[in-house]
Amino acid sequence: MIKTEFGLEVQNLRKVYKSNDANEPVVALEKLDLQVKKGSFFGLLGPNGAGKSTLINILAGLVIKTSGIVKIRHIDQDINVREFKRSIGVVPQETNFDPFLTPYESLNIQAGLYGVRKSDRQINQILKKLGLEGKSSAYMRSLSGGMRRRLLIGKALVHAPEVVILDEPTAGVDIELREMLWNYMKDLNAKGTTIILTTHYLEEAEALCEKIAILNKGELIACNDTSDLLAKVNLKVLNIKFNNLDPDKIKLPEKARLKKHQNQKLSISYNRNEIKIDQILECLKSQGLEIIDLSTEEADLADVFKLLTNKNNR
Ligand code: ADP
Ligand code: MG
Repeated sequence: MIKTEFGLEVQNLRKVYKSNDANEPVVALEKLDLQVKKGSFFGLLGPNGAGKSTLINILAGLVIKTSGIVKIRHIDQDINVREFKRSIGVVPQETNFDPFLTPYESLNIQAGLYGVRKSDRQINQILKKLGLEGKSSAYMRSLSGGMRRRLLIGKALVHAPEVVILDEPTAGVDIELREMLWNYMKDLNAKGTTIILTTHYLEEAEALCEKIAILNKGELIACNDTSDLLAKVNLKVLNIKFNNLDPDKIKLPEKARLKKHQNQKLSISYNRNEIKIDQILECLKSQGLEIIDLSTEEADLADVFKLLTNKNNR
């Protein structure tokens, strides 16, 4: 039987941080299994402290796992150490550069560290793709935050890795740059690179990722095709416009949750498997709410995310 090879495979991964003071050790990842299809665009989501960076830092070789197996295809992180390193490019969250290097030098040194032959180096092409061609010999300290972030991406790409992992690459960047990074990631992915992305912008994950895993407190609580994830929870949003009633006094049925309240408009999300729209409306009307207008829409990933992570916290 031929064993399926994945772009990235994580088996029974566990990470316990031993505390340096009298605190309890922190279990950051527990029994984590993950399979990312080769060539896919994969989203890794989760609230703060879920363990995303721990996972990414383990993959990057910056954090030592407590136990478990990590592979890119058949390449095992602990067995094929060099090959694994060459197969992966990680874009960390924080920018940290030598102020006396230029972008060109920085990428060139990185390529050298990875043993990329001089004739194979594509430094100028990468700088151009990232919109940094005009800055190739500027000093690092003269680059804006957005430029440094792009350079970080360049550093992860100089050795043309088959798997690229980006830890919140678009955090705090303006719309123009965000679109450029999206296009760049899409382009890389179209050429066959497996892309794994963490982001706080759920609409970004929804737009880019075929499949999404949600981590919470070190455990995987969902891993589905993005469209299935949205469909699976059967979540709907009910928008109501009304002309009376003090918002603070409105009580929702237990199975419905308030998404947004603005002036005379209420947005309520609910799971169609758990409660019917009639029941919500009955409940509101019984409190004297006068409805002027009403519409429903499909929930977005943010609703699904809240639903799943809240459930897990109870
Ligand atoms: P995320 O990136 O999803 O926000 P992290 O992987 O950074 O989550 O953190 C997961 C958990 O591990 C948190 O409880 C965090 O406090 C803890 N943690 C992370 N790094 C360390 C460390 N170096 N030492 C001890 N605890 C840590
Ligand atoms: Mg993090």
